Amino acid sequence: SIRPPAWKQTATLQVAVKCRPLTEAERQQNRHIVHVTNNKGVIVLDPDLSKDYLDLIQNRTKEKRYSFDHAFGPECTNTDVYKCISSTIDGVVQGLNATVFAYGATGSGKTYTMVGTHNDPGLMVLSLHTIFDLIKKDESSDEFEVSCSYLEVYNEVIYDLLEKSSSHLELREDPEKGIVVAGLRTIKVQSADKILELLNIGNSRRKTESTEANATSSRSHAVLEITVKRKQRNNYRTQVLRGKLALVDLAGSERASETQNAGQKLRDGANINRSLLALANCINALGKQHKKGLAYVPYRNSKLTRILKDGLSGNSQTVMVATVSPADGQYHHTVNTLKYADRAK
Ligand code: ADP
Ligand code: MG
Repeated sequence: SIRPPAWKQTATLQVAVKCRPLTEAERQQNRHIVHVTNNKGVIVLDPDLSKDYLDLIQNRTKEKRYSFDHAFGPECTNTDVYKCISSTIDGVVQGLNATVFAYGATGSGKTYTMVGTHNDPGLMVLSLHTIFDLIKKDESSDEFEVSCSYLEVYNEVIYDLLEKSSSHLELREDPEKGIVVAGLRTIKVQSADKILELLNIGNSRRKTESTEANATSSRSHAVLEITVKRKQRNNYRTQVLRGKLALVDLAGSERASETQNAGQKLRDGANINRSLLALANCINALGKQHKKGLAYVPYRNSKLTRILKDGLSGNSQTVMVATVSPADGQYHHTVNTLKYADRAK
């Protein structure tokens, strides 16, 4: 498909939901209460009220229903989820900016969706594969350079995940490049081959990474930034396009959604993740912009949103993948995540 030129596009926000399968341990003790219908709808049974899916069909008062741009059930792979961001990724090779992030409670499948495994590579890995496939097609006429950085925001401090032991990194305003992380390592990449390995090494350096569903909340955000520089030569003139893609594995959303659903204004407090709340406010503004036209996006309020600024403003494309667990024990987290995602649409 041919996309309109960059200057004709406005910022867009798409919301997708991914429900993971029950884990081995959960299968012994938990009921599966989340159902995905026709690729867009999500139904959540109230574990205190309904007994099974049949009960739900017969008596429609006992469930919560939502509808999103895309919804993926437990049988879906990361490659299925990737399909809804693929056109966004294509744009990056044309010089557009994009942000894709996974939002959900700890243990809901954010890291699985973004990083994935060898057999089911995640969105970070699949995106880089697509970028190199697209480059191959145009390599005879244009010149490309792909570079990556991988950082963590933890307690409002930025660390380099590509370095063995990283010091605290600071944000700087560069007159040409805009907001940059001073001293952050960027590596030139020639292919997508080693990226999974690199991400796994980077993730092992994250401050709190827990894959236990009921472990303490993970408060660190991991940001993979992929920059594609493209030199186009037409009629002896050279044009340089630069597309930036940020793929973000967010901190656990449990606290943010609790605050939101209590009807409180988004404010940072001792126990609340400032970057996550600031991002939530930016997403709300983007959602409004998508529906009603221009709105101010308050990206200045946290380290994470300042880092993501280029991918949250102008004509950039944003995709939020909300991840949920199907287990009855996670009912409140699941409903909070879906409510939040529903509001962002
Ligand atoms: P989070 O990063 O949100 O805390 P994880 O990605 O670590 O959650 O997922 C929690 C657990 O669920 C892990 O054991 C992970 O392997 C498993 N899991 C998540 N998504 C899937 C999936 N789509 N298929 C199989 N297992 C999954
Ligand atoms: Mg994780």
